[in-house]
Amino acid sequence: MRASSKKLIIVLICLACLILTGCAGKEYRATVFAMDTVMQITVYAKDDSSLALCRAKINDVEKMLSTTYEDSITSRLNRGETVTAQEEFIDLLSDCRKYSGLTGGAFDITSYPVVRLWGFTTGEHRVPDQQEIDEAVGRIGMDNIAENVSGEVSLMNGAEIDFGAVTKGYLGDRIRDILTEQGVSSALIDLGGNITVIGKNRGKDWVIGIEIPSRDESGLAGTVAVSDTSVVTSGSYRRYFEEGGRVYGHIMDPKTGYPAENGLISVTIVSPDTEMADALSTGLYVAGLEEAVSIWKETPGFEAVFITDDGTVYVTEGLASCFTINKDYSQKLVIIEK
Ligand code: ADP
Ligand code: MG
Repeated sequence: MRASSKKLIIVLICLACLILTGCAGKEYRATVFAMDTVMQITVYAKDDSSLALCRAKINDVEKMLSTTYEDSITSRLNRGETVTAQEEFIDLLSDCRKYSGLTGGAFDITSYPVVRLWGFTTGEHRVPDQQEIDEAVGRIGMDNIAENVSGEVSLMNGAEIDFGAVTKGYLGDRIRDILTEQGVSSALIDLGGNITVIGKNRGKDWVIGIEIPSRDESGLAGTVAVSDTSVVTSGSYRRYFEEGGRVYGHIMDPKTGYPAENGLISVTIVSPDTEMADALSTGLYVAGLEEAVSIWKETPGFEAVFITDDGTVYVTEGLASCFTINKDYSQKLVIIEK
């Protein structure tokens, strides 16, 4: 065989290998415990250099937003300080206003006084009395956050904030941006149930599971097959407490000051915008099925899977072809059309 034909064969073999591995390189993984969550970032790349940048970003975002850091912007605002915040913070704040508007106030980062009152910040859970609830609800409202053009932010009327319902989504987008800038074309970013995927999984769609929303059953209610998007689920089947034979979940209805309870047990949002998916999974969970469906009809940019307490799985039409129900979990599947 001539040298040039040998070279051609070697080139063809290399090309075939690249195609078989999705042109994406070797698998590298980082596992990080942050924000009370096990986070796992899996990349297919030539090396693992991008993962160090992701770890640093997780640290930065936690330090900026977390209520458990005394020096975070959030904690300083909650102590009554006026803070000159960086642009990222101001942008996130303005996004949160938008999500609050989109959900008719069901998503509201000023819900923190009631989150605290029910003990979800310390784990010392209790059912507050009505007077305490009324007092805390009286301090809720996005209008209680003041910011000016110089980036000075302060809280009014005893308001307190917490980005718990949107931080992992915000972070998912930041990590995706870092990886994309680093040339990573295939990755799975799993921030504890907040999933963002880049590209495909070795040439095929990523198959993302949606958990059975149950306190005592595990397994999948269904899966979605997707690429270049995010899949974020909210529900109260993991973080809750029981008292007097009743169950109280960690997602609050800012209007009543009680844990949201309206028949929905799980909301999954699929959107290329992970931050929006995180905010809306919480907000639509509070809003309830009927309101959630009308918000979906009016708002471009996302699809959803809603599960109600009778085990019915509602899937918006944009997911009809990529959603697979687990028939052992439920036989009741409804496709919602626009
Ligand atoms: P998880 O953090 O379990 O993934 P979510 O994204 O749904 O769940 O966020 C829930 C957290 O958001 C709560 O623990 C609380 O800190 C905060 N929160 C609770 N109710 C609301 C609400 N109505 N709007 C905004 N944030 C909320
Ligand atoms: Mg959320």
